[in-house]
Amino acid sequence: MWQLSSIPVVSRLAPTPSGFLHLGNAVNFTLTWLLTRQAGGTLHLRIDDLDRARFRPAYLENIFRTLEWLGLDYDYGPTGPADFERNFSQQHRLPEYEATLQAARLAHPRVFYACGCSRTELARQGVLAGSCPGTCRHAALTLSAPKAAWRAHVPSGSIVTIQDMAQGLVQIDLTAELGNFVVRKKDGVAAYQVASVLDDVRLGVTCVVRGLDLLPSTAAQLWLASQLPGQEGFRQVQFYHHALFTTSSGEKLSKSTQASSQRGIVEEADSPQVVYEAVAHLLGLPEQAATSLSVLRERIAQRHNGDTWASSV
Ligand SMILES: [Zn+2]
Repeated sequence: MWQLSSIPVVSRLAPTPSGFLHLGNAVNFTLTWLLTRQAGGTLHLRIDDLDRARFRPAYLENIFRTLEWLGLDYDYGPTGPADFERNFSQQHRLPEYEATLQAARLAHPRVFYACGCSRTELARQGVLAGSCPGTCRHAALTLSAPKAAWRAHVPSGSIVTIQDMAQGLVQIDLTAELGNFVVRKKDGVAAYQVASVLDDVRLGVTCVVRGLDLLPSTAAQLWLASQLPGQEGFRQVQFYHHALFTTSSGEKLSKSTQASSQRGIVEEADSPQVVYEAVAHLLGLPEQAATSLSVLRERIAQRHNGDTWASSV
């Protein structure tokens, strides 16, 4: 159980400008904001634009517009698209990610290996695309080979234990979930899991709020933190994995329903109240708690007076 007052809470909103933000994103941001503000913590806006192929300026603008629409403020981060591009883009930190990967390769030569598998090759071998069976590891290709991705070798039976604020003790079989996952893509750019760990450590993040669907990612990042020099601090991060939001009738919205949000929640909803209602529902609060963000915050404070978030869900 996590007492809100026991550690300084530093958290972040981490949207990706690769699509318009949907209800699920808005629910996650609102939950993160409520938890951080209730704890008197510090909130960063940390935009993940590692994947520039799917980046569009309209998506970047939509992030700022959605936060304003939701009424969510933050303490550190870009003030707008131009400030983001100039001072906060992950593209500025590619050399830092690369230096850490090179140091990791030297520190753990048996963990990282070059993988030359193509999608077609993996399909031919009858394994899931994205997972290398380890044959490349035995082939011992050089890591400086062009067009080779780097993978981390996850030994069989690697179980990662997560003490989650919402879910309690969770055990993830990393070998089965992600296998030998990619840490550096074929184009030489660090993979999401690496950049995410480095950014969280750099910002001093102590608390991460994310959906249950990201549990395997959390496991991969916790495991990776021990393999990446200087990133051990990530293992102290506390996690709050929330259920994927449900409709008022308790019905789970499918991935396709969420993904159908072509124009984004700001364009599709009449008001942010639909988001506050979804948050209240997730936290088991009555609908009257969701008339506005301030009412929601107040109801949570009343309920959690001296209590923990963990006991509410
Ligand atoms: Zn391979």
